[in-house]
Amino acid sequence: MMKTIGYAATSCDAPLKPFSFERRALRHNDVAMEVLYCGVCHSDLHQARNDWGGSVYPIVPGHEIIGRVTETGPDVKRFKQGDIVAIGCMVDSCQHCDQCDKGNEQYCREGNTQTYNSPDRIDGQNTYGGYSKHMIAREEFVLHVPKNLDLSRAAPLLCAGITTYSPLRAWNVGPGKKVGVIGLGGLGHMAVKLAVGMGAEVTIISRSDKKRTDAEELKAHKYLVSSDESAMQKAANHFDVIIDTVPYKHDLDPYLPLLDVDGSLVIVGQIGPLAETSSVPLVMGRRRVAGSLIGGIAETQEMLNLCGEKNILPDCEIIKIEDINEAYERLERGDVHYRFVIDMSSLKND
Ligand code: NAP
Ligand code: ZN
Repeated sequence: MMKTIGYAATSCDAPLKPFSFERRALRHNDVAMEVLYCGVCHSDLHQARNDWGGSVYPIVPGHEIIGRVTETGPDVKRFKQGDIVAIGCMVDSCQHCDQCDKGNEQYCREGNTQTYNSPDRIDGQNTYGGYSKHMIAREEFVLHVPKNLDLSRAAPLLCAGITTYSPLRAWNVGPGKKVGVIGLGGLGHMAVKLAVGMGAEVTIISRSDKKRTDAEELKAHKYLVSSDESAMQKAANHFDVIIDTVPYKHDLDPYLPLLDVDGSLVIVGQIGPLAETSSVPLVMGRRRVAGSLIGGIAETQEMLNLCGEKNILPDCEIIKIEDINEAYERLERGDVHYRFVIDMSSLKND
């Protein structure tokens, strides 16, 4: 066992604070790493606050992890000490069902093992995430980081990146496709950068005008304010795909008419109830509402490689671990451009 330290929430209303714990002894197929950077996802906040139910405390959040390999188990083939690696939202799955065989480990028939707040498949211990000095995961769930990527900005690719890349790929986004992105936060700004990188025409759909000046820098083609009824009416029937990143229960009715015939609105934000929705815009245009969960491991590597090739990186504000509670408050207020990343060297062992 390895003694380590992290930051944990001990109840749904407690601030995160330092927490000492042990990482498991290295298994034959495990990769151990020192965590260098960890992104702060809105899901961390949802789970720390038990918004989805099922939070088991203490929770050490963090599933956007960049680390340096410190040790490998005897059967590990693809990594060695010193390698720069990454871990996203999953650390295990059954590895033998049809979905795992297809590379859809996130839809594992037996359920994937989440990076935190999930029972380990072998010892049953609750998993602890990347707001910690050290991580351990089986080789199959560890990713290579392209050498040219700025490590201080790469972490958010592991959740915000893959969660938006996966539906963009599944809906064949590329040149000639019109993509809308609802909510310009961590996931939303990655959806914009990735869809632009894939050659689509991209529109940011935001609640206010406040972020309009950022649209150009993000290389978005258009900016639509969802509270501006006349602009929303003018944008009717425009989109092939809309990626909806709104983190709370909300009304889909204003957005569905924006879809073209056969268009799809893909929910990646709210995981839970939505406001009551009329079927009229669905029926009248063969429009679809869908959902999508993170992405598979091979697909995550594909996304990392693409980001390496095109130098696609999130816009990050680097914070110290002791500032995590303030960062959560700012995340709740929507005051982040566009992802907090914790520099884990700020977490001292004592
Ligand atoms: P975030 O950085 O807080 O961004 C969310 C954005 O949504 C905000 O910037 C805001 O954009 C908009 N928004 C916020 N509150 C809203 C409201 N009440 N109504 C309408 N729009 C609102 O969050 P994130 O880290 O991107 O995460 C977004 C959601 O995705 C979270 O719920 C998270 O749990 C979920 N998630 C899902 C998956 C998955 O696999 N499906 C993976 C990761 C995260 P504007 O100001 O531009 O309107
Ligand atoms: Zn996340």
